[in-house]
Amino acid sequence: MNNFDVIIIGAGSVGVPTALALAKKKFSVLIIDELSSPGQGQNKKAIGGIRATHSDFGKIKICQRSIEIFSHWKEETGVDIGWIKNGYSFPAFNENDEQKLKELLKTQQAFGLNINWISAEEYKELVPGINDANLRGSTYSPDDGSASPLLSAAAFYEKSKEYGSEYKFREKVLNIIPKENHFQISTDKGKYEAKFVVNASGNNAAFIGEMENSDLPVIPDSHEGAITEPVERFFGPMIVDMRPAKDSANYYFYQNNEGQVIFCITPKPPFYGTDSDSTSWFLPKVSKRMVQLFPKLANLKVRRTWRGQYPMTPDGFPIVDFAEDFPNFINAVGMCGQGFMLGPGLGELISRMVANDLSEDDKKILKSFSYKRDFSGMEQFK
Ligand SMILES: Cc1cc2nc3c(=O)[nH]c(=O)nc-3n(C[C@H](O)[C@H](O)[C@H](O)COP(=O)(O)OP(=O)(O)OC[C@H]3O[C@@H](n4cnc5c(N)ncnc54)[C@H](O)[C@@H]3O)c2cc1C
Repeated sequence: MNNFDVIIIGAGSVGVPTALALAKKKFSVLIIDELSSPGQGQNKKAIGGIRATHSDFGKIKICQRSIEIFSHWKEETGVDIGWIKNGYSFPAFNENDEQKLKELLKTQQAFGLNINWISAEEYKELVPGINDANLRGSTYSPDDGSASPLLSAAAFYEKSKEYGSEYKFREKVLNIIPKENHFQISTDKGKYEAKFVVNASGNNAAFIGEMENSDLPVIPDSHEGAITEPVERFFGPMIVDMRPAKDSANYYFYQNNEGQVIFCITPKPPFYGTDSDSTSWFLPKVSKRMVQLFPKLANLKVRRTWRGQYPMTPDGFPIVDFAEDFPNFINAVGMCGQGFMLGPGLGELISRMVANDLSEDDKKILKSFSYKRDFSGMEQFK
């Protein structure tokens, strides 16, 4: 009864879609999570942005697949996960940013991504009322979108159970002992065995990594988010304002499927640690910057703020790799600020790792996400 093909540690942005992909391939799967239901770790802290328009082969390919899954979910299952194809935009307000964005566009277009440069006038049609002082134009990728992280986790969870996945909630993994042909996993409530283990433990990646001799460079990096009351749609895409300020880097916001504006800012310097109390710094800081850029936002009431973490790696790329000492142990960690959008595509990739059925593209993707890389690179506009 306690014997599985695969045990996944963590029912979050990565673990739940991975269970679904594995169960579809007929592997017996158990997910263990110390929280009370799926998606209650950092998954529910995400604001729901989903884009394929990155600058690296691995992230682009994985997120292209994720977008296929998110965007077809409702027609395929009848369940609404809040997907809308609202697109992403990176407006430029100085020559340097314009040049960098246009340079990156060439790479993105070479991957076949639907992303273009639009003029300031065209951008003002997408975002009517935006403050156009110094606005030089913007990138615009209409096929990117957004969905609800909690609805998605619940939908993937239900579907994975239909395919036979089992879940243990309120149960914490404490130890992993490698045996000859399997792993023995001990929790605070029981013992389980599996041929494969997937570490999808988010913020806790390094702790689980120690159990299989991996020194995983994943540090929880705090970010806050907020959501307003719902109103009629009044602008199109996710807006990422890249201009740094004194104590913050970029900030980004969009209007979700229910008409609520949902937003985040990147603190500078970063706040490390897992303290998840909202700060008095966040809302005054981010709302001032947002209202300067888009004065109409001043009319909205903020309903709720929260604080969570990006499970951060030094270079902003995830680690998806077999553990060096244990070929049947897969780390799928360090999702940084993109675990929600990477999750479904990664889940399928992990199922092919377990099935030993990797394509040439998969191998190339895994190179970008290798544990053995030197972590010195940094993705543009991460
Ligand atoms: C404010 C904010 C906004 C964000 N916006 C976006 C966005 O727009 N788009 C996007 O793609 N990403 C976004 N993110 C990032 C995203 O939330 C994370 O990258 C993602 O949730 C990480 O997924 P994960 O599966 O690695 O971790 P999680 O979703 O946290 O799942 C890990 C799970 O492992 C469990 N666990 C850990 N240790 C153990 C143990 N020992 N035993 C049992 N269970 C254990 C935890 O309880 C948790 O449920 C945002 C994050 C924040 C904070």
